[in-house]
Amino acid sequence: MNLIKKLPDEELAGQAASLRKSVVEVCVKNGAGHIAPSLSCIEILTVLYYSIMNIAADPMWENRDRLIFSKAHGCYGLYAALCDIGYISKSDWTGFYKDSFLSGCVERNLEHGIEAGCGSLGHGLPIAAGIAFGAKLQKKDYKVYCIAGDGEMQEGSNWEALQFAAKHNLDNLILIIDNNHLQAMDFIENILTVEGRKNDLEMKLKAFGCAVETCDGHDVIELKRKLEKLGDAGRDSNLPRALIAKTIKGYGLKCMENVSKFHFRIPTDEELKWGNRYE
Ligand SMILES: [Mg+2]
Repeated sequence: MNLIKKLPDEELAGQAASLRKSVVEVCVKNGAGHIAPSLSCIEILTVLYYSIMNIAADPMWENRDRLIFSKAHGCYGLYAALCDIGYISKSDWTGFYKDSFLSGCVERNLEHGIEAGCGSLGHGLPIAAGIAFGAKLQKKDYKVYCIAGDGEMQEGSNWEALQFAAKHNLDNLILIIDNNHLQAMDFIENILTVEGRKNDLEMKLKAFGCAVETCDGHDVIELKRKLEKLGDAGRDSNLPRALIAKTIKGYGLKCMENVSKFHFRIPTDEELKWGNRYE
């Protein structure tokens, strides 16, 4: 099988910058797309696709590691990565919404490397748990990764999935939470947080039986180290794994970082002049 080559560690940050630039340029040109939630998970996607996951030139290779992209509105970094590794064409990426099969939320398309349709939030992790369970039943060694938003972790379906994963010893399931502290147009703290407890994801995940790590979600080396640690089959065997990646929504565009109004808003030419972190 023709596996996709992994990048050396020293090239990962540059790769993330390249994907970030692609997201901003394509979305601004199209005047569409959720740029801010896409930018917060660029490093997570980079480390998965270019360093951690075993994937092949054939997106349907049966032993591939799977990624379920649950925070589906922030799919533009995923599209940029899938284009870069050759799973989708440049014209499909740059023509999203109009001259392309790519839509505003991910839709399942295995031929192009999209494992599951998400978009009604809170459903990616249950799908990932089901696939991980299937791998166990079939005695397959691949891992199932799920990128979820911190806002969608309010959905009860996620916690049902974690109960299922813990019950069935799904240590091949690795949940990565893009913990940017914003959901849609406001801060999580203002929407659904018990007063005085902030967003206590780590406590909840541990209570539901997960092995949990936390890291800077924009530091590619730290992300890689933590994902390798969580992927080690000998560690905390039988527990589903979770990584809380501390991120900044809109990371990379200075006008957009941690600014709630940019959930789906396209920056103006003037705002773009504030500068960026990828050039
Ligand atoms: Mg969020």
